[in-house]
Amino acid sequence: MEKIYTSTRNKALARTPKEAVVKGIAEDGGLFVYDALDTLRLPLQDMMQMTYEQMAETVLQLLLPDFTEEEVKDCVENAYKGKFRDEHITPLHKAGNTNILELFHGPTCAFKDVGLRMLPQLMSKSLQQQPDEHVMILTATSGDTGKAALEGFLDVPRTGITVFYPDEGVSNIQRLQMVTTKGSNTCVCAIRGNFDDAQSNVKRIFQNAQLSARLKEKGITLSSANSINIGRLIPQVVYYVYAYKDMVRTKEITFGEKVNFCVPTGNYGNVLAGYYAKLMGLPVNKFIVASNSNNVLFDFLKDGVYDRNRPFYKTISPSMDILISSNLERLLYYKSGKDADYIAQLMNELEATGRYQVREDIFTSVREDFAGGYCDDEACAQSMREFYEQSGYVMDPHTAIAYKVMKDYEKEDSMHKCVLLSTASPYKFAPAVYEALFNETIPDEFACMEMLQQKSGSAMPKPLAELAKMDILHSHLIDKNDMSSFVETIGEEIFHD
Ligand SMILES: *Cc1c(COP(=O)(O)O)cnc(C)c1O
Repeated sequence: MEKIYTSTRNKALARTPKEAVVKGIAEDGGLFVYDALDTLRLPLQDMMQMTYEQMAETVLQLLLPDFTEEEVKDCVENAYKGKFRDEHITPLHKAGNTNILELFHGPTCAFKDVGLRMLPQLMSKSLQQQPDEHVMILTATSGDTGKAALEGFLDVPRTGITVFYPDEGVSNIQRLQMVTTKGSNTCVCAIRGNFDDAQSNVKRIFQNAQLSARLKEKGITLSSANSINIGRLIPQVVYYVYAYKDMVRTKEITFGEKVNFCVPTGNYGNVLAGYYAKLMGLPVNKFIVASNSNNVLFDFLKDGVYDRNRPFYKTISPSMDILISSNLERLLYYKSGKDADYIAQLMNELEATGRYQVREDIFTSVREDFAGGYCDDEACAQSMREFYEQSGYVMDPHTAIAYKVMKDYEKEDSMHKCVLLSTASPYKFAPAVYEALFNETIPDEFACMEMLQQKSGSAMPKPLAELAKMDILHSHLIDKNDMSSFVETIGEEIFHD
């Protein structure tokens, strides 16, 4: 198989799709990209008749051509069959005049399940070619990736998983979901630091050649379950096409008409998957990138300067409390005309100074596909309440951020229909949601979830209700600078017990 995936920072660093899935991130710190992506074409007309599973097979086959048809079928079936609480996997729900793509019906109640149900499947198949290898997955989480990755890799042979989350940087429900995880190959560790610290240190661990060599001797390779891994990003392309199909089916649009997508954004993974769909022919006008008070992307989309030197805010949408949006690197790669040297230079600047400015032509080209907006906690809470009062629909804080930004954007562009991506169940953030809707605080999460269900009539997902009775199994708390030695110890524990 041809090595069609190359590093955003060096085209000579090339891997086959399977190798790229196992590696997760390139040795030079760059992200794997498929150079010819913009020459591929989704068979859109055919896809309008397909089920979600068939669409997923089509997308995977196109982007991971070294998987056989049978392997792809297997992966899709194992990843999704019976695992989502809705038969459509990611149903499009109309509330009032708003088309909401609900991405949270998976086992952990956030959109991360769509990618992270699939990644372990892809990794297992890829590892069949490398019989002596054990893979240790390292993951930094702003709250939702952690549990979805733990669930996805739980007891998957020859894999282990360690999740780092910012102590006090996730909701209590998110924390409980992670620290109650069973399985002999799982490890959960809080760090004294924020998500950016966790993600940056994980990236540094991947680049630590000495550590890699020591682990290699023990037969352990490190890999990533963050959206820097193509095996997680690619499955997310599917629901953009699926949403489009549903917009056509319900006659919101006619086939071929362009739509907008509004996406609550942190690490730029979700919205980038949408851009991939557009590059392969999906009729999209604009992606509207919604941020909370950590509005580094909003500023970037305003003037082409990415500057993470700014205060870090903890918000009621914690999964978007991020100042280094990793996947922007992939977008800039394509927008720069696939200029790896230029990307390497930008990323070095980011590492050294926390800031870079992109060339004018690149900025103009980015603006053709993306618009940005943001709102703070207060506007977010107000949106949750207003939308609930208008339509009876309860949205989570991340979705509410995007809703507000979408409404603001409609004043500029009322021509195109917009799909709002809903990334989490409101029950994951019950106290914030309840307070926004009913102006009342219930400190106990489980009592609060119960009340939210009673008052709003929306159903509480079972996996969250069950958390109340589960034992805490993980209690590591370490300094952010001790992550690398922690990985070494835990690697031995997991694979050599
Ligand atoms: C992870 C997450 C986001 C941000 O998605 P990115 O792919 O990181 O941009 C938004 N909302 C929720 C609920 C999330 O878990």
